[in-house]
Amino acid sequence: MINLIEKLYCTENLTDAELKALIEDNSDEVSSHLAKRADEIRQKYYGKKVFLRGLIEISSYCKNDCYYCGIRRSNKSAERYRLDRSQILKCADIGYKLGFRTFVMQGGEDAFFNDDYICSVISEIHRNFPGCAITLSLGERSAESYGKMKAAGADRYLLRHEAADEKLYQKLHPAEMSLDNRKKCLYNLIETGFQTGSGFMVGAPFQTTDNIISDIRFLQKLNPHMIGIGPFIPHKYTPFRDERGGTAELTLRLLGILRLMFPKVLLPATTALGTIAENGRVLGLKTGCNVIMPNLSPEEVRCKYSLYDNKLITGGEAAEGLSLLKSEIEAAGYEVASERGDYVSQHC
Ligand code: SAM
Repeated sequence: MINLIEKLYCTENLTDAELKALIEDNSDEVSSHLAKRADEIRQKYYGKKVFLRGLIEISSYCKNDCYYCGIRRSNKSAERYRLDRSQILKCADIGYKLGFRTFVMQGGEDAFFNDDYICSVISEIHRNFPGCAITLSLGERSAESYGKMKAAGADRYLLRHEAADEKLYQKLHPAEMSLDNRKKCLYNLIETGFQTGSGFMVGAPFQTTDNIISDIRFLQKLNPHMIGIGPFIPHKYTPFRDERGGTAELTLRLLGILRLMFPKVLLPATTALGTIAENGRVLGLKTGCNVIMPNLSPEEVRCKYSLYDNKLITGGEAAEGLSLLKSEIEAAGYEVASERGDYVSQHC
């Protein structure tokens, strides 16, 4: 297994059979060697820097009905909210003063946030907070819509493909949603010039190792700038309430593999990982991650953006807990970068 890690480290690839063996192995020796190599590669391109992204959850309304997600439209128990322009700008103002230089506007697919509205908010953020990057995560939209938002000044877009295998995609989503459209949106985003992020949930219901290999192969084709993976965590008001959640061990194994395959990718240690494991985010940083996304949403709405049960919203997870987060990052041997943290395009 150690030889496979060395092969991945040197060639940035493995065969399907090799990947399967590495994913399914669960020995501590392999995990620690993988983490060591992943850390070496992340340090080669990004040094010890950890980029912070201030997450502003702008809406919990969603027209979609993904079976795993707590804000799916059929969840009648979900408390819905949407932030208005002044609330979004206030979040950015608080974040800017705390030192954030990237804002991520994420939400369910909410028609209220049409192109004109989003574009005007993007322009206002740039006017008020110069030198900041704006990331959007607003789901599937038309190529024209992505073009308008890019022209208005958005820099990055996150859209997980969720499952690259057609059969698995269909088990996780209702028939009205399509993997083809999800993939088309991702290619449109790259074409439009966005730094684009994709990814999937680890341990989603019905997911097999072969499905994960399909996800990795799709990511190799897409070649995104950012990859977001985190464990699936059940939500009590979804059809998957009784399913088992993904594990921190498998998530970390995949993070290490992804760092070696995509040496320059921006790789977050996600809130979901921090939710299921005590020290999840730090373990993520030690296994190749270089991004953390603390929550900048107004405190009174945070519990309403409930994608899964027990989502972390306080402490180092919250923007106000930044000093706690900084000390955790420093104690782990890394440093918080006070910059936008773009993808490194040049080869070092
Ligand atoms: N609407 C946008 C979209 O579709 O990309 C952004 C919001 S969506 C809720 C953000 C991500 O949350 C999804 O890509 C999904 O992978 C993740 N997510 C949703 N439910 C989850 C769950 N139960 N466990 C872990 N992650 C979940």
